[in-house]
Amino acid sequence: MNSVKTVAVLTSGGDAPGMNAAVRAVVRTGIYNGLKVLGIKKGYEGLLRGDIEEMTLRSVGDIIQKGGTILQTARSKEFTTKAGLEKAMSMAKIFDIDALVVIGGDGSYRGARDLSELGMNVIGIPGTIDNDIACTEYTIGYDTAMNTVLDAIDKIRDTSYSHERCSVLEVMGRNAGWIAVNCGIAGGAEAIILPEKEFDIDKDIIIPIVEGRNRGKKHYLVIVAEGVGGAVEIAKYIEEKTEITTRATILGYIQRGGSPTVTDRVMASRMGAMAINLLLEGKKNRIIAVRDGKLTDLEINEALNMEKTIDGDLIDLSRILAL
Ligand code: ATP
Repeated sequence: MNSVKTVAVLTSGGDAPGMNAAVRAVVRTGIYNGLKVLGIKKGYEGLLRGDIEEMTLRSVGDIIQKGGTILQTARSKEFTTKAGLEKAMSMAKIFDIDALVVIGGDGSYRGARDLSELGMNVIGIPGTIDNDIACTEYTIGYDTAMNTVLDAIDKIRDTSYSHERCSVLEVMGRNAGWIAVNCGIAGGAEAIILPEKEFDIDKDIIIPIVEGRNRGKKHYLVIVAEGVGGAVEIAKYIEEKTEITTRATILGYIQRGGSPTVTDRVMASRMGAMAINLLLEGKKNRIIAVRDGKLTDLEINEALNMEKTIDGDLIDLSRILAL
């Protein structure tokens, strides 16, 4: 039986395009089903401060196309302490919050899990551009970020080809090379360097470039994930060894912003609506995920205990296709 009357929603961790579509879906599906929906500003920080306001159908109008998050986001140290958690629970009580929808990454889920242990009913929605959440194949913002990276690759390629140059592009992904590997394949990279896999600069970068040149290639692209870093040093090394003019580009926050793609808008909308539907079904402490291509939900601790590794076949494929 559903006993939830007031649901609060927050966005936490790094912002990601599509978070607004998820907030909108939580608010509108909640109100449609007779619930009161509260918006918490700046993630757990706002919960601690009581920076909370009632959402209306109109307060989420004109946001589906916007990147970032209208609720804003923050990283809160205080929240991770015992005193901080208790303060958060007492603020939730003051606002009569029966359930909390958390849109964010693994760290945000850990916070949600801690709240659930103190009695809050939590639902997690995966929102982070890195796609580094173990339990799910897809996270909100990932598709938009990859399309932004691909657009940059295509532009850089024009110059790279015209001048017969090599480009080293650093893309986001602190612990996960999902953006790097997919954009490497989509952009035809000679080498993709991931945090999940040790690399040998001569074997994995210099040899493919030199062999490519011998086969008549006119430009070269190396993708480096943020978690590996060192794009500038790698570029210098390539230039020294091959005498091919090489430039490094670090895409940075450009990848975090921008209008969400169709995929991110639709998936975020479905996930937001699903969060409310789970609560209406009386479910507790679930993480929404995509598994085997389907939307599903998992118990929060089960979700947090999972591990995710990058598909080795994708790396092999990228090497073959760069020949
Ligand atoms: P992203 O992948 O975009 O970085 P994230 O949700 O993993 O998203 P974090 O900064 O790790 O981002 O976490 C967001 C917030 O969640 C933190 O500021 C903190 O308040 C809370 N949090 C993170 N880790 C924990 C933890 N182990 N226990 C309790 N709360 C946590």
